[in-house]
Amino acid sequence: MGPGPVNVHPRVLRAMSADMLGQFDPEMTAYMNETMALYRRVFMTENRWTFLVDGTARAGIEAALVSLVEPGARLLVIQAGRFGLLLSEIGQRIGAEIRTLDIPWGEVASLEQIEAAIVAHRPQVFAAIHGDTSTTMAQPLAGVGEVCRRHGVLSYVDATATLGGMAVATDAWGVDVVTGGLQKCMGGPPGSAPITISDRAAAHIMKRRHVEAGIRGEDPDEGPGALIRSNYFDLAMVMEYWSEKRLNHHTEATSMLYAAREAARVMVEEGLEARFARHRAAGAAMGAGLRAMGLTLYGQDAHRMTNVTGVYIPGGVDGERVRARMRGEFEIEIGTAFGPLAGKIWRIGAMGYNAMQHKVLITLGALEAVLRAEGYAPPAGAAIDAARAVYEAAR
Ligand SMILES: *Cc1c(COP(=O)(O)O)cnc(C)c1O
Repeated sequence: MGPGPVNVHPRVLRAMSADMLGQFDPEMTAYMNETMALYRRVFMTENRWTFLVDGTARAGIEAALVSLVEPGARLLVIQAGRFGLLLSEIGQRIGAEIRTLDIPWGEVASLEQIEAAIVAHRPQVFAAIHGDTSTTMAQPLAGVGEVCRRHGVLSYVDATATLGGMAVATDAWGVDVVTGGLQKCMGGPPGSAPITISDRAAAHIMKRRHVEAGIRGEDPDEGPGALIRSNYFDLAMVMEYWSEKRLNHHTEATSMLYAAREAARVMVEEGLEARFARHRAAGAAMGAGLRAMGLTLYGQDAHRMTNVTGVYIPGGVDGERVRARMRGEFEIEIGTAFGPLAGKIWRIGAMGYNAMQHKVLITLGALEAVLRAEGYAPPAGAAIDAARAVYEAAR
């Protein structure tokens, strides 16, 4: 019950045990096409360019940024947690000029703040995290795409932690590129990064294809169409690989494709709304249970991710000892925290296959018992009662 990786749906594990196919095998190309169609549903988009980057979620982030942002161009990043810092760090390696919209951890940026930062910095690309698991806050993104288009800015969102758990409304947000991962709310293993790319972003990326840079004979870092400084993460090449041209690039990570396809099939069968409601109920029940133990939640109620809850470690309690006892005595993992929050909060997830009533109740019961053993005495039974009340009210 941490913030990922989490338990994988049994259907996904079974799908991964199927034998290998090469990426030109007709059975495999049919799976690839089917996977593209499934991830259009998952990303709530009509984008033709919707496929998988092979690698963990960070591979998707890096592919998006290295393919969108040209060396020397400006990248504006919302920095409101650890993953915002990661976007800036990757941008620096690309040679981008980094500008940040700095938001205190535990808060989110308003649309007005975003527009003001875009006007002030005039970036080529605007980048944000949807759900930053380091702070457990979800950045609202309605209207962001429209603002970016109005100012001629390309937009990128990392939705790794929310994809499959909260609405990642690519088309409604109007965002150009969104990436994710499987190991959070998709209920899959780490190792595949679904991505979706708007036509306008795809045209920008295609201008940067290495063949054209070679033909031009220009400085590859200069002007529009500057060469993408990565082969593996060159999305122009990866798009041609997933297109009807099937231009060879890398060996498709066969087992990961099976996993990504099955995770999306499970999601589409469940129904997006039902799945988001399942995560909402689990998050609300977890929050209510923690509060009933007298604990204080971290961050703003209005902007909580529904699939991971930050909670302050009560005074006098050793957070790492509690985590070790949860794991050792109950086989339940809860999350630690990073940076300024290390030692201050736990992050308790209810993601994907783990966003289930019995897992929430068992986790709360176990935490209550461990806290009592560690000298913090929550009111007996209150956490489970409060969580069950949330589930009953939702029925
Ligand atoms: C978990 C997470 C990642 C993880 O990236 P990996 O390469 O799969 O470890 C990236 N971004 C966010 C917002 C996350 O929560």
